[in-house]
Amino acid sequence: MYDVIIIGGGPAGITAGIYCQRANLKTIIFEKETIGGQIASSPLVENFPGCKSISGAQLATNFYEQADELGIPIEIEEVLEIIPGEKIKVITDFGEYESKVVILATGSKYRLLGLPNEIEYIGKGIAFCTSCDGAFFKGKDIAIIGGGNSAVTNAIYMSNIAKKIYLVDICDHLICEKTLEDKLRSLDNVEIIQQTGVKELLGDEELNGVILSNDRKLDIQGMFISIGMVAQTELVKDLVKLNKQNYVDSEDCKTNLDNIFVAGDCRSKNIRQLTTAVADGTTAAINAIKYIEDHK
Ligand SMILES: Cc1cc2nc3c(=O)[nH]c(=O)nc-3n(C[C@H](O)[C@H](O)[C@H](O)COP(=O)(O)OP(=O)(O)OC[C@H]3O[C@@H](n4cnc5c(N)ncnc54)[C@H](O)[C@@H]3O)c2cc1C
Repeated sequence: MYDVIIIGGGPAGITAGIYCQRANLKTIIFEKETIGGQIASSPLVENFPGCKSISGAQLATNFYEQADELGIPIEIEEVLEIIPGEKIKVITDFGEYESKVVILATGSKYRLLGLPNEIEYIGKGIAFCTSCDGAFFKGKDIAIIGGGNSAVTNAIYMSNIAKKIYLVDICDHLICEKTLEDKLRSLDNVEIIQQTGVKELLGDEELNGVILSNDRKLDIQGMFISIGMVAQTELVKDLVKLNKQNYVDSEDCKTNLDNIFVAGDCRSKNIRQLTTAVADGTTAAINAIKYIEDHK
């Protein structure tokens, strides 16, 4: 019987684990893929306080080592089912566990285009977050894929950093706010290419071009995919309340169930970054600790 089961070993889950373990609660973290979560695939992180410049893989290793030194077990198991109750039953691909509290920290994923080699080029030319990785494309030619608010905002942001930006959008009109569209259209170094998708990625070790569905070839050194995020909440869709975009509805990292808390990218919020994920991990853990104290 655990006090706290944390689902997800990304920044939010690891932070929650650190707080719960240091509060002397019997804690375990389940991670189905990569300890460290999404950030492990980032080539460089330069906006996390305390680490001026660090690879995502090294940051993930640091997260792991800190958790390990505190004695927090992190098991590579996928949680397949959660059965709620006073004692929550958690079923993984390896076994069954019980706990007083569960913290959901299952994160989100950037929506992909579905092209061959796409995953291999992530961190080698393909990126998602301009405020995280934009600086690595200074003076380069890049493409931004998408035509919504986030794609257009990314293109405007990158117009001050990259040399040339191609905004490639499958629709015949941009679906962003009018003021954003006006700003975008006023920029000299942005070319908008519409009613076109990407059909092929070119390159060896690193991405160096794309072929569009109209057969035009773009010589680019980077591509930001801005076609939305997908919440990793399939596991809890019949358990806790989700919002319209499938993120866990939450105020103060609480869900509609008393002993299930939520932290990080999988919950409803506006900004999904490392710092907001670790902030949520703290809040969810402190709420969980209080719940356990109150139910002794
Ligand atoms: C390439 C890239 C670069 C980025 N760069 C930056 C940056 O420079 N700065 C910044 O602030 N942010 C950056 N981000 C965003 C940042 O990584 C995320 O905001 C942050 O990782 C969210 O943390 P999280 O713990 O909520 O979720 P995640 O990191 O998504 O971790 C969730 C974890 O839960 C696991 N999981 C999901 N379901 C289950 C299950 N059923 N059972 C067990 N485990 C499960 C997943 O495998 C995953 O490891 C970047 C993201 C990417 C993809």
